[in-house]
Parts: sequence; structure tokens; C-alpha cells
Amino acid sequence: MVRVGLQISATLENIDKLETDADYAFFFKLTCSNCGETSDKWHDIIESERVQQDTRNSVGFNFYMKCKMCGRENSMDVVEKSSVPYTADDAGSFKTIVIFDCRGVEPVEFSPRTGWKVQSAENGQSFEDVDLSEDDWVEYDQKNNNSVGVYEFASKFIKLKK
Ligand code: ZN
Repeated sequence: MVRVGLQISATLENIDKLETDADYAFFFKLTCSNCGETSDKWHDIIESERVQQDTRNSVGFNFYMKCKMCGRENSMDVVEKSSVPYTADDAGSFKTIVIFDCRGVEPVEFSPRTGWKVQSAENGQSFEDVDLSEDDWVEYDQKNNNSVGVYEFASKFIKLKK
């Protein structure tokens, strides 16, 4: 088993924190570590969802797939309590926001899409279902009368030692 951290970087305008919750769907392209196959399809991994629950494994997994090429059974889980917000202090640099236990499969590409949460600075407005598909997001905070934004969103993966 390998542990992989998802790191993000962004510029934040008048934002205290940017975060996901347990219902957020992480969309990944995955590579099978057994045969090296990378699927063209995006796969979604949601912490609050469990699949493939059976007598062998009553808790199931957050994600499960059988590799189309080699037939191996692969799975992934969000490491419990590994999710942390990306804050104003982190802006402009990469930070690990979530960690995955990867069994036989590893994420190679991340698509941020929608479902992010934003808390504006100075106790301003909070926003749900923030869409980062375009790597940029801008809104108007009516409590503080200023604009808020996430710009230059970028992501990468790091392998973590156990
Ligand atoms: Zn495979």
C-alpha cells in the first residue's frame, strides 16, 4: 500500500480558507501499479461513500475498481481526518490537503470541478459549491463589499512515507 497526498496551490483574494468536505468528489485519472495502464476515464472518490462492501470487507472502500487490462482488484480510501483547509497563509505555495491510501492504483491527474467551500476573510460571506473547473473563481462578498477569488489553481501528487 502506498500513501499519496494531493497538494494544491492557489492565489486567494480576500479569502480565509478554501476546503472540501466528506461529500466532495475528487475526480482522478488513475494508473494501475501492476500493469501500468492509465485509464482515459475520470473516477470519483468520495469520503462519505462506501462501495464493494461484502463479507470479506464489511466497511468496503471509498473507491474500488477492477483493472480492465490485468484484472487486478484495486482500491483507494481517504485517510481518516487527513483533510485540511487551504488557508490565506498557504496562498501561493503547495500544501497537502488530503491523503489517500492506495492499494494497487495511484492517482496521476486531478480535476478540481465543483463542490468546494470558501470562507471569506474578515468574517465575510461563505460560499458553497464553488466551481474551480476553470482553475479560477471570482464572486462578490456582499457582507464586506469586496470581491473574493481563487486564481491560478494548480495541483500535484506526492508519495508519502508511512
Ligand atoms: Zn492493471
